[in-house]
Amino acid sequence: MRFETRAIHDGQPSDPVTGAVMTPVYQTSTFQQDGIGKPRAYEYSRSGNPTRAALEAALASLESGKYGLAFASGVAATTAVFNLLGPGDHVVAGEDLYGGTYRLLEKVFRRWGMETTYVNAAHPDQVAAAFTDRTRLLWVETPTNPLLKLADLRALADVARTRKAWLAVDNTFASPYFQRPLELGAHIVVHSTTKYLGGHSDVIGGAVVVSDDELYRPLNTYQNTAGAVPGLWDCWLVLRGLKTLAVRMQAHEQNALRLARFLEKHPAIERVYYPGLPAHPQHELAKRQMSGFGGMISFDLKGGFPAVERFVGGLKLFLLAESLGGVESLACYPPKMTHSSIPPSERRRRGIGAGLVRLSVGIEHVDDLEQDLRQALNTCA
Ligand SMILES: *Cc1c(COP(=O)(O)O)cnc(C)c1O
Repeated sequence: MRFETRAIHDGQPSDPVTGAVMTPVYQTSTFQQDGIGKPRAYEYSRSGNPTRAALEAALASLESGKYGLAFASGVAATTAVFNLLGPGDHVVAGEDLYGGTYRLLEKVFRRWGMETTYVNAAHPDQVAAAFTDRTRLLWVETPTNPLLKLADLRALADVARTRKAWLAVDNTFASPYFQRPLELGAHIVVHSTTKYLGGHSDVIGGAVVVSDDELYRPLNTYQNTAGAVPGLWDCWLVLRGLKTLAVRMQAHEQNALRLARFLEKHPAIERVYYPGLPAHPQHELAKRQMSGFGGMISFDLKGGFPAVERFVGGLKLFLLAESLGGVESLACYPPKMTHSSIPPSERRRRGIGAGLVRLSVGIEHVDDLEQDLRQALNTCA
């Protein structure tokens, strides 16, 4: 079956007891057992619960994987993947990445003896050169946050495979509707389901999807042992979000493409970062490995931070907020918001300038969105 159909049906049959069309929220911590040593399908909701199982099956299906694992947040899912490694192991990570992932590697895992080298993942040769004998994991985002750079997943999967390491892809920005890394050779996919998968800015959640049993087993053990599992209402909210993922992503993209073209021509703007624009240096790669360009746009405003302050102050419809992927449009200033945990010198080296603004384009009417950007940009001129 096709993506749209699987999003609505996979892992979510009608309830076998009542026929309820929607997966019930099995809001229970524990399950009655038929005798000592005779549990039914579930024992205790940290280990497993039917509502979470429905979400995990649906996520696996949409990412073309065999196993889905739901977590309490995107960073909890990320933590589970890093826990596949141990002291002395080495990670190669794309340098343009979610600030919280950088913080996790530097503030938590480095203390435990795990070293990370950051590279520009747009260049597979630079990635390969960063590998050491101890490298076990290659971690990338594509498109990246906040500069919307792409990594060639087929090429990186080859690099990882040759060096007997795993390729893990944070697929939060593209969503499985536009990009499925496992189909391109990646071993592990990670999501913040807080974003497009949930889709309505009303839940925090994360997920890991894999196909290899050797990866699933330790991840499943970790999930139960460390216990960062999502609540059942949260599982249900993400499951509900998944059902409309396809139509939402189409609408996000249509709006983003229109706005990116508008921004590209605006005199107050230095540069627009959107993989759907032919001017994007990796537009051809985007067309090859993604089936759409997504709903995230970043741009550099002329005039740096003062211009950004005027622009953001002038917005009436776009809300100033962290996060992304909801139905409503958001604007964010990465240097002082999502990426404030990256030291300023490191930020500058990575190309995150003082005039950088990131938009999460929602699914409101695009004319209203364009009008809002136009009037806010006029205050910068
Ligand atoms: C938000 C985000 C995360 C972290 O997810 P949380 O749900 O906030 O813990 C990880 N990666 C990317 C790309 C994100 O946007």
